[in-house]
Amino acid sequence: MTIAQRLADVLNRIASSCAHHHISPARIALIAVSKTFPIEAILQAHKAGQRDFGENYVQEGLEKISALADIRKELTWHFIGPLQSNKTKDVAEHFDWMHTIEREKIAKRLSEQRPNHQPPLQVCIQVNVSGESSKSGVSPQEAKALALEVAHLPGLELRGLMAIPEPDETPEAQQRPFAQLRRLAAEIRAALPPQKAARFDVLSMGMSADLESAIAESSDEFTTLVRVGSAIFGPRPAKP
Ligand SMILES: *Cc1c(COP(=O)(O)O)cnc(C)c1O
Repeated sequence: MTIAQRLADVLNRIASSCAHHHISPARIALIAVSKTFPIEAILQAHKAGQRDFGENYVQEGLEKISALADIRKELTWHFIGPLQSNKTKDVAEHFDWMHTIEREKIAKRLSEQRPNHQPPLQVCIQVNVSGESSKSGVSPQEAKALALEVAHLPGLELRGLMAIPEPDETPEAQQRPFAQLRRLAAEIRAALPPQKAARFDVLSMGMSADLESAIAESSDEFTTLVRVGSAIFGPRPAKP
């Protein structure tokens, strides 16, 4: 199957899931996670109409952004991997979105390093909703305090929450952490000042294996950004 065909399949999955769960398709947006895949793969997805791309590794992301500089204005680049503080400048200068804020220190660096002439970096706070000690993200209890701090930093716009729950087989088990993320986001929004609350409108959740479950737990109050890699680009080569 070509990338265009796989992308069409994913868009069909999203559309039928929206219909099934009575979610407006306008509330779901697709990020194509291109980590480990070559520039040619991104170009094929772009040709098929895809505009949002996600990368996990700073160096790899920068290489792709620079190789695709002539279509930069058409693309939205999302950083979705763990970020070390010595790499914040690269993300602040080159990406449009950063989904994995889990420490105030990282947020402050991004805020200071975001160039003035660029629109604010769009950021999400990563929450560890499945309670796994190995996973990144703040605990649900810590998320509100961090959100209130981040919301006031210049150069950043706090857009919502992100989660990567443990893989689970059944839809019921997959949906639980997504529902928890949505409820937590609603709670945080209620605690933000009105202008900040109005822009706090995103849930970054759902991947190739569980995007239907993420859509099932979506809500018309938020836009759900599903982050889909292998279902679009094929199986990922193992990391060397
Ligand atoms: C790799 C990755 C994805 C995409 O995973 P697939 O299972 O290939 O769809 C989504 N989100 C994050 C944070 C990832 O690292």
